[in-house]
Amino acid sequence: MIENNQGDNRPKKSIIYYYFIILVAVMLLNALFFPSVMEARVKEVGYSDFITMVDENKVTEVVMDSTKQELVFSATDEDGKTTYYKTGAFPDEGLMQRLTDHNVKYSSETVKQNSSLLSVILTWLLPIFIFIGIGQLISKMMMKKMGGGPAMTFGKANAKIYAETETGVTFDDVAGEEESKDALTEIVDFLHNPDKYAQIGAKLPKGALLVGPPGTGKTLLAKAVAGEAKVPFFSISGSEFVEMFVGMGAAKVRDLFKQANEKAPCIVFIDEIDTIGKKRDSGNGMGGNDEREQTLNQLLTEMDGFDGRKGVVILAATNRPESLDPALLRPGRFDRRIPVELPDLNGREAILKVHARDVKMDSNIDFGAIARATSGASGAELANIVNEAALRAVRMGRNVVKQEDLEESVETVIAGYQRKNAVLSPYEKKVVAYHEIGHALVAAKQSNSAPVTKITIIPRTSGALGYTMQVEEGEKYLMSKEEAQNKIATLTGGRSAEELIFNTITTGASNDIEQATKLARAMITRYGMSREFDMVALETVNNQYLGGDTSLACSAETSSLIDKEVVATVKAGHEKAISILRENIDKLHELASYLLEKETITGEEFMEILNK
Ligand code: ADP
Ligand code: MG
Ligand code: ZN
Repeated sequence: MIENNQGDNRPKKSIIYYYFIILVAVMLLNALFFPSVMEARVKEVGYSDFITMVDENKVTEVVMDSTKQELVFSATDEDGKTTYYKTGAFPDEGLMQRLTDHNVKYSSETVKQNSSLLSVILTWLLPIFIFIGIGQLISKMMMKKMGGGPAMTFGKANAKIYAETETGVTFDDVAGEEESKDALTEIVDFLHNPDKYAQIGAKLPKGALLVGPPGTGKTLLAKAVAGEAKVPFFSISGSEFVEMFVGMGAAKVRDLFKQANEKAPCIVFIDEIDTIGKKRDSGNGMGGNDEREQTLNQLLTEMDGFDGRKGVVILAATNRPESLDPALLRPGRFDRRIPVELPDLNGREAILKVHARDVKMDSNIDFGAIARATSGASGAELANIVNEAALRAVRMGRNVVKQEDLEESVETVIAGYQRKNAVLSPYEKKVVAYHEIGHALVAAKQSNSAPVTKITIIPRTSGALGYTMQVEEGEKYLMSKEEAQNKIATLTGGRSAEELIFNTITTGASNDIEQATKLARAMITRYGMSREFDMVALETVNNQYLGGDTSLACSAETSSLIDKEVVATVKAGHEKAISILRENIDKLHELASYLLEKETITGEEFMEILNK
């Protein structure tokens, strides 16, 4: 149920298709009305041949064109076909008599005059109209391609701005995100009665910036503010400002604010503002950012220029706030920052319920269980999970969504579709089973690790051949050093089992290795969990919301010391895992063969065998 804000879903026929139609139409009209074509079909004959044809009773009609000094006549040949001829006029006294004798109709140019007036219209005016039509069609198509307005006018941009009178979205549609909603209610109140604020002389912030990872409902919140306040909602995406022509983006900004001022009170929403609001210092030499810079400058000017008391509130959304130009964040511009974070346990449950409203659900659905299994999922992903569950119910021929549909779609959305037809050799399958039980066993035998809820060796399209799902019982915000060490041991548990049982190692642990290394590194460089470096920050996070890339902030010597420390940390975890598995090798065998048989086992089944 992810809605499509900008997409144009109508099927687009290619320009070539239109060109073809136009070409055919023009050719047809030409053939019908262009005299030159018509004349090409008129055969020219000598006067004496004309007389012969008259005598042979072939000629049916003659038209005399006195201006051109020629005769146009039609004649029927043996097989009854009519052909048009023309011949030069000849001073022939006896012609009229001859024509009357042979029963030939004759007239002088009157008929032709009429038809030539018509043909003037058809040959001159019609093509002009057609070409104007074609021109407009093409320009319309081009504007559509560029995401522009209905008409192509240079210099003045007609921004595609939606003045929706009612967005129809309210705060009830946004689940969780209570803090963000609280911060926005003041804006709603302000839009409801701007006079109340004006009387005291209070100025509300002109703009608020919604900041958070993708899919957390920023766009939805902005719409909900407009919906709650019942004011028009002007929405434009940052990328729509970036135009082909320099100056168009700035013109769009001007246009947008002009429209908004006329409709005040209202909300102007600029989605993905980072596309135009990037820091301006990054000179990349080519000067290709002129357009973006102009647009940004225009936006800043407009924001400074308009009267905040009129009731125009500007909301913007971004998932990379650190890349924004500081000028945008100055007081009087987007000085209010509203974090929109990934939902917590309760938030996830609430979001699932909001989206389940539109879907026929079984009466005893346990949303809490689904919420617990989806830690880290965004609102958009949760919406997708509900939709996938509904699709699965339809595939299964049911008319209500059941718990198992939701469970299955959690895996679909989070881990990729089940790869039913992937064939593993029995040996490989055995390796995978031991690997997964290795993870689970190491996790279970350490205190402070999240309980195992599911182990499966059914491959996913994401590439995983199996996985062990651990779900925290509640939300966790802090991780202790011991927990981090345990987690590293658990991550190395898969490989450790392979080593113990098969006395060999496979490529299967690559993801585990990556995760373990990342965590070990973060413990040392960011969390101050090593004795060597104490509480010194050795790395800084560049982008909190997108992947969290880090950059090193230390000397080369320190860097190599860090590497040594990372290796030592991972190694310690690995050794711990091996010794845990060695102590429990009977359980390892028992559980692995059980998993091999069942392919998927639940946390309870696992614990039951373990504690037997
Ligand atoms: P963003 O703009 O932050 O990337 P969107 O607002 O476009 O995210 O969210 C995409 C979709 O995800 C929404 O249309 C909605 O269906 C769903 N969604 C996201 N967050 C929530 C939420 N808190 N409550 C309900 N639905 C949500
Ligand atoms: Mg969005
Ligand atoms: Zn693994």
